[in-house]
Amino acid sequence: MSGKRVLGLLLARPLIAVAIAAVVVGVLLLVQTDKETTPVTHRTEHIALSDKQQTKLGSQQYDKTLRENRAAIVSSGADYAQVQRVARRIEAVAGRDKPAFDWKVTLLRKDEANAYCLPGGKIVVYTGILPVTRNDAALATVLGHEVAHATAEHAAERIERNHLTKVAAAIIAGGVAFTPRQYVRVSALLGAAGSLPFSRSQESEADHIGVIYMARAGYHPRQAVAFWKRMQRASKGKQLPEFASDHPSDQHRIERIQGWLPEAEREYTPAHVS
Ligand SMILES: [Zn+2]
Repeated sequence: MSGKRVLGLLLARPLIAVAIAAVVVGVLLLVQTDKETTPVTHRTEHIALSDKQQTKLGSQQYDKTLRENRAAIVSSGADYAQVQRVARRIEAVAGRDKPAFDWKVTLLRKDEANAYCLPGGKIVVYTGILPVTRNDAALATVLGHEVAHATAEHAAERIERNHLTKVAAAIIAGGVAFTPRQYVRVSALLGAAGSLPFSRSQESEADHIGVIYMARAGYHPRQAVAFWKRMQRASKGKQLPEFASDHPSDQHRIERIQGWLPEAEREYTPAHVS
């Protein structure tokens, strides 16, 4: 096709021109795949989405979730205060590894023992997890694990492996150049709604980083073991949420966490209650 004909086609169909522009912008935003190192475990991974792009992608998903669940948002009371208190301390620790992330937590009234953290630091906690966590340290175990998925860039890594990075970049750039099907695939890989997008090794890595984060935030890491035992009992015979998924099978998960305790205890200093 000649340049003239292409131009003519674009002028005749402005929507196509906008879509192509979005793809071009999306691709230009991806300079190259960067070598990144995960916190704590020091694993090398190849990620094309920058921290800023991940934050934008996560924020778009977060805004959508809050819009759809407006009536369930808890914004006062003891549960709200606990989630804010614990999240603030975990975010302060995780923020040292990802200064460009923009942290925020929302508690939703949902009768499901679940929580998740989107790329870039937006956290959602369901009230259904609180009867199992019971105390700040166990809630720090859950938040440490979820936040670790974000700082280790697990969603971006999965998007990369599924060859959806350009689609994700186009969504970030303006959301034109993608089909609804591609959009759904990218959203599913973000870990939104506590679905199960992560691999066994990513789950294990989130456990490891999470237990170090909780220790650095001033919560005794031994509480992670007590929490997982409670979670095991609470979830007997039920469909497990993402973070409690049995692909790191519960018994082995507890054994592995026990193996990381000496490292975590070296990083533990009791925090002053604020
Ligand atoms: Zn997980």
